[in-house]
Amino acid sequence: MTRNPVEKSATPVEKATLAKKTPVTLLGLGAMGTALARAWLAAGHPLTVWNRTPARAAALAAEGATVADSAAEAVAANTLVVVCLLDAASVDEALAGADLAGRDLVDLTTGTPAQARARAEWARERGARHLDGGIMAVPSMIGVPEAGGYVFYSGSRELFERHRETLGVPVGTTYVGEDPGFAALHDVALLSAMYGMFAGAAHAFALIRKEDIDPASLAPLLADWLVAMAPSVHLTADQLRNGDDTEGADSSLAMQVAGIPTFLTTAEQQGVSPELLSPYFTLMRRSLAESGGGEGGTGMIDLLVR
Ligand code: NDP
Repeated sequence: MTRNPVEKSATPVEKATLAKKTPVTLLGLGAMGTALARAWLAAGHPLTVWNRTPARAAALAAEGATVADSAAEAVAANTLVVVCLLDAASVDEALAGADLAGRDLVDLTTGTPAQARARAEWARERGARHLDGGIMAVPSMIGVPEAGGYVFYSGSRELFERHRETLGVPVGTTYVGEDPGFAALHDVALLSAMYGMFAGAAHAFALIRKEDIDPASLAPLLADWLVAMAPSVHLTADQLRNGDDTEGADSSLAMQVAGIPTFLTTAEQQGVSPELLSPYFTLMRRSLAESGGGEGGTGMIDLLVR
């Protein structure tokens, strides 16, 4: 193990400050892991790192991290072990030879709810406690509180509370429940909505592509409109909760279905494929037909649930 140069040369005051901070082991120094590492180092947490490709650890060693020669050695160094690797298979590979007994394993690797639940059980069988995390941030948002990024956590609340302060150093924390799969589920839910937004924006830009309209003049209008529409999710939630999709509905489903030809004809006339919008329109029509003239759009949500 390469010793931490900062630790070696630390003054008594620096050592006392370091001693108060929870030591962290971090496995994975990709774009995200490196950003996390820098935030913990900047906050004075003793940090032990490991990466499959050792060269990626060199810069962090110079910044004060202790570099372990193996994942097993890194895991042995500290109770709190944070993992941020590519996928579940890479976590299996990295931790294959590590003794996890007594460790608090926090897995920030993106995965499905089922993978998170399986990992919690896997950790329990190895004598470790487990939290799953879903990162709602990109690396440039890590260590920048005003950027608004955070991580969803799920699993043992007690374990989350124990490490909340340390986990909150690089980026905010949002605990979403004891079920280990809930962080991943929230992560995938939010990102799925984001892809719907990207799809709509792609269609909008395609509509103006061949016209004498500067995309840069459409962009702020688009952004403002999406922001103005975003709060509609609260109305949807209320309707789902109360089982009443007429509640607060400004725009009936029938009115929206009547407008579908306008969108499809405009796309055709602009030479734009309707492939991103058509599935949603199909669902709107089915929902209207099956609800016998329902008011809102929550019927579509139930049609999606198989
Ligand atoms: P990178 O591709 O930059 O890094 C991947 C990391 O996984 C590297 O440390 C790589 O090691 C390691 N790795 C890959 N395969 C293996 C393996 N078989 N055994 C051991 N280590 C392996 O990804 P990021 O750092 O960006 O992402 C890490 C996690 O964070 C992912 O799950 C990602 O979905 C999530 N995330 C990333 C975001 C982003 O914007 N970057 C946003 C939100 C979540 P090596 O250096 O040796 O290749």
